[in-house]
Amino acid sequence: MKTDPDCIFCKIASHEIPSTVIFENDEVIAFDDLSPQAPVHTLVIPKGHYDDIADDVPAHVLAAMTEAIREVAKAKGLAEGYRVITNKGADAGQTVMHFHMHVLGGKTLGEGLV
Ligand code: IMP
Repeated sequence: MKTDPDCIFCKIASHEIPSTVIFENDEVIAFDDLSPQAPVHTLVIPKGHYDDIADDVPAHVLAAMTEAIREVAKAKGLAEGYRVITNKGADAGQTVMHFHMHVLGGKTLGEGLV
């Protein structure tokens, strides 16, 4: 598994930096965002280092992330719905260059996407 010793999310994945873990298995970890934009704001990341969704992310890792999103929704009680967002690159405002999906919920979210 490729990791980057200078990447903050790689350090969270290896538990070198503590986080509030919601779900974890061999491929992925889900943890609460440090700066929540909604009552529920959890990040789902692969444990391997990929820069973003356009990196060469294997299908089984994407499947594990999808499963983790469902587990986060269950753990956080998001039966009424939630939003999943990923930012890729400068135009999207990506700030951490380790692929991640934001799971947002816990309130009625705005209708717009941008
Ligand atoms: P991006 O803007 O899509 O790259 O999202 C990066 C997210 O990572 C932001 O929502 C940050 O609040 C979050 N974040 C950055 N550092 C940490 C951390 O150490 N723990 C948890 N979340 C973090």
